[in-house]
Amino acid sequence: MRVTVDDLRKAFESEVGRRWTAGQWVRWLNASSVLQGQTFRNVVLIRLQLPDALWVGDREAWQRRGRQVVRGQSGIRVVTGERRTDRVVGSVQGHGVGTLWDVSQTEGRPVLLPSVDAGSGVTPRRLLEALTSVAGGLGYGVREQELAPEAGGSVTDVRRRRIILDADLDVPSASVALAHEVAHLRMHKLSSGQVCGGLSELEAESVAYTVLARFGCPMDGSSSGRLFAAARGVGRKPSARLVETLGGRVVSAAGRLIKDTGQKLTRSGSRREAEIWAHADLGRDDLGPRM
Ligand SMILES: [Zn+2]
Repeated sequence: MRVTVDDLRKAFESEVGRRWTAGQWVRWLNASSVLQGQTFRNVVLIRLQLPDALWVGDREAWQRRGRQVVRGQSGIRVVTGERRTDRVVGSVQGHGVGTLWDVSQTEGRPVLLPSVDAGSGVTPRRLLEALTSVAGGLGYGVREQELAPEAGGSVTDVRRRRIILDADLDVPSASVALAHEVAHLRMHKLSSGQVCGGLSELEAESVAYTVLARFGCPMDGSSSGRLFAAARGVGRKPSARLVETLGGRVVSAAGRLIKDTGQKLTRSGSRREAEIWAHADLGRDDLGPRM
């Protein structure tokens, strides 16, 4: 059966319309942290067609890794040729339908599966150090200080170019807070003394969640509570276009932060961390649908 870009667009819109909840948003973020290099729309389409997909690639990408698609497996249809910049979402240039297969639908040379088990991740302490180093690269120092409860655990002082983390936070919460502030720095125009909220809060919190998920550091209860609250803030029936725009921006910013953080870990980290990163890197370059 022939599937068109329009069919996939309608499938995406109906899936988002039917399923949107704060919990489902987090499940899509989880899937995007595993399915590296895919656009948000494709993450939704992949999950719709094969909910347990772990690692997808086109026929040629699997052949390059010494694997073939098992006869009789039906491929996952995705939209290819999308521009993946932050702000251009839903561009119509060069769209086409591509077919991907999950690793479970292929056979051949053994591969190291992506790390989805929290136990095999990077420690929160190492992640915090790597994120501190990413913030340093953006010209921001990171320091701990006591903050008022309404600060929500962290604040960025644009004028002094520093990120302040509440001294009361434990290490995992401090990593979430720092990833959140770095996401703000990259995605939003911050002004001094601004309290974050609304869609920019949802974006920053979602990027922090995706980055932590990728490195196998689960979020603590108060951070996940903030993420759910921010996601509920878009209302019970957000338009598919809004969800796609948010998802596109989050997936793109998280991918960039994962890459930068992974490089810091590789530079100073253990061999195991470097391996996890090497895998993520391969996923991004080799396994996305060909443009
Ligand atoms: Zn914020």
